[in-house]
Amino acid sequence: MASCIDPAKLQITRTTSPKPKVAKEKLSFGAVKSDHMLEIDWDVETGWTAPRIVPYHALEIDPAASVLHYGLEAFEGMKAYLDPSGKARLFRPDLNMKRLSNSMERLAFPALDKDAFAECIKALVRVDKDWIPRGEGFSLYLRPTVIGTWPYLGVHAAHRIKLFCIACPVGPYYPEGFKPVKLLADDLHVRAWPGGVGDAKVGGNYAPTIAVQAQAAARGFTQVLWLFGQGKGGQGQEKLVTEAGTMNFFALWKDAGSGRPTLVTAPLDGTILPGVTRQSILDLARAGSLGDLDVQERPFTIGELAAAGREGRLLEAFGAGTAAVVAPTKLVHYAGEDIHIPLDPANPSAGAGPLAQRIWNELRDIQYGLGSHASHPWSVAAE
Ligand SMILES: *Cc1c(COP(=O)(O)O)cnc(C)c1O
Repeated sequence: MASCIDPAKLQITRTTSPKPKVAKEKLSFGAVKSDHMLEIDWDVETGWTAPRIVPYHALEIDPAASVLHYGLEAFEGMKAYLDPSGKARLFRPDLNMKRLSNSMERLAFPALDKDAFAECIKALVRVDKDWIPRGEGFSLYLRPTVIGTWPYLGVHAAHRIKLFCIACPVGPYYPEGFKPVKLLADDLHVRAWPGGVGDAKVGGNYAPTIAVQAQAAARGFTQVLWLFGQGKGGQGQEKLVTEAGTMNFFALWKDAGSGRPTLVTAPLDGTILPGVTRQSILDLARAGSLGDLDVQERPFTIGELAAAGREGRLLEAFGAGTAAVVAPTKLVHYAGEDIHIPLDPANPSAGAGPLAQRIWNELRDIQYGLGSHASHPWSVAAE
């Protein structure tokens, strides 16, 4: 019985009918898939199969499989980038593996061999390297996924699972420069709660958000700002600000006491997805790489955000995640009130504030290995 994933046993079957590449300008997020995928199965009796890289294909799945009934599914989102010398790199893959391992534990899946699985993902990147589009903002989006395949209708830990990874060439999130978003702070729906699964990247967290997102879009908002707490409307000012859509959320304001520029984000209290981008922004800010600002990882309320706006202390706000890196926010609407957020006072046509732009530049340089960041501990060679 293979108790571990063994990258040394990796079997590669290359496609005999490679798909035509799609023009870089035509890539839309997650629509185009590369030629290959990675698959590894696990069975409680026999353990892990050898990892396989095979042509991209539809899965055959038993209609009783637990993923189809009880949502036994977790996933990751990461990217492979080409550096100036044409080598493929990943960005902090250890954090994705740790998070996937935590998500799997929450679903009573077997323990994940994090390093071994990361090696298999690197092998997929090498096989599909010609699918990584070159250029700033371009990358190969990787979607490691794990599902319960055991065909048994009892609500029970899966005796069989499938771990796989597909890859999609993607272009810049903002092909024409930053496009600041408007968020609707939702008063009725809750994304996550203490003791729930908000800190696990499990599919079950996302299905219930789609209708809420659609309602916000129908009202002219780009995304939902998820709050948590008691009260509604005027009574809801103590509600905590948690996340924006599928991104972590940051505000930069002058602290009401010290007057210092302060970067605030919600703490990892179980209701927040531990984003790799979020962690990287906090790490850079604490290391002083983002300028002179204080950093606070603490619960903060929609009332505090509104007060900072009213009092002219609010400097910037943005979402943070792998897909967009940063999503500058220009407005948050809550309970009939608009909270306006400045972008760049020195440059009214800029779609992002100076801090969001600085974060974007810094992370881009690390991810693509540019300039002074040609080598950086967060940027890991895939070949
Ligand atoms: C994936 C995700 C994020 C962002 O995580 P990154 O690792 O930065 O991409 C934030 N919030 C939610 C709910 C997510 O699913």
